Amino acid sequence: MPSSPATVSGAVFDIKRFALHDGPGIRTTVFLKGCPLSCMWCHNPESQATRPEILFSADRCTGCGACISACPQAAIFIAHAVAQTDRDRCGGCGQCVSVCPSHARTLLGKTMGVQEVVSEIESDIVFFDESGGGVTLSGGEPLFQPEFATALLSACQHLRIHTALDTCGFAPWEHLSQVARVSDLVLYDLKHIDIPQHVRWTRQSSDIILDNLVRLDALKKRLWIRIPFIPGFNDDLQSWHALAAFVAQLRCVEAIHLLPYHRAGEGKWRQLERLPEAVFCEPEKEAINAAVALMRETTGCPVHVGG
Ligand code: SF4
Ligand code: SF4
Repeated sequence: MPSSPATVSGAVFDIKRFALHDGPGIRTTVFLKGCPLSCMWCHNPESQATRPEILFSADRCTGCGACISACPQAAIFIAHAVAQTDRDRCGGCGQCVSVCPSHARTLLGKTMGVQEVVSEIESDIVFFDESGGGVTLSGGEPLFQPEFATALLSACQHLRIHTALDTCGFAPWEHLSQVARVSDLVLYDLKHIDIPQHVRWTRQSSDIILDNLVRLDALKKRLWIRIPFIPGFNDDLQSWHALAAFVAQLRCVEAIHLLPYHRAGEGKWRQLERLPEAVFCEPEKEAINAAVALMRETTGCPVHVGG
């Protein structure tokens, strides 16, 4: 028997108000922690792990050592005059954050109840109503926490708030269909049709993603397709012909959004003290325009850059 929404909680890493690119109108986007993919270009690497994590700004650290005394796991030590965190030992308790006089440490991710999140959202209802906006559940991957995602979107719908699910589609169909039932719109990320390429760059296969998308379309779910445009991964014409041909067979796609790679997420890899497995450059405008034209011509759908 499903838990009562009042008792369901989940791992949240951010709640962004006045978002303009996560669905129609002005929206509040709730970012859930945890993702089954490991995309090498990920803009939100802090969303990949389900557990809370420390973001560390080395340029602020004075090496004072206050965090060392506060850590119950003995996970921090000084090297090269700044704090270093043994992330295998770190339990994500956050006790080192408040003692840091330089604000060099931030804890990312916390457990929140459905009602707690709804209370933060409710004050924005007036903006939703005026702009045709609502709430978008993003991540990470919301379907990694299907019970929480379902309870949260269901609570929003109960308040007559428009709901959108932003998903990578890599999830059991039961989870996707359950959350989609309480989503007025699904923003569906499509990255590559070719299975070996998808596995190589995201660590997971595209077959379940493609299959789930076809099934959602058959349910007549309103869909916005979002495709990252990543030089070296999917910016060649062959990849775009395949993506466009796949989208063209769907009947419920209202819009396609092409998301060019940008470097804004690179600093977060540093703050997590991790190195990305690959380095990417931002795409040329001509390449973006060619992909837009091809997608528009093949699918007949409106195609936007960004969002
Ligand atoms: S979050 Fe907790 S366990 Fe992790 S480094 Fe800070 S004090 Fe130590
Ligand atoms: S408390 Fe802050 S400034 Fe001091 S060593 Fe730790 S991270 Fe650096």
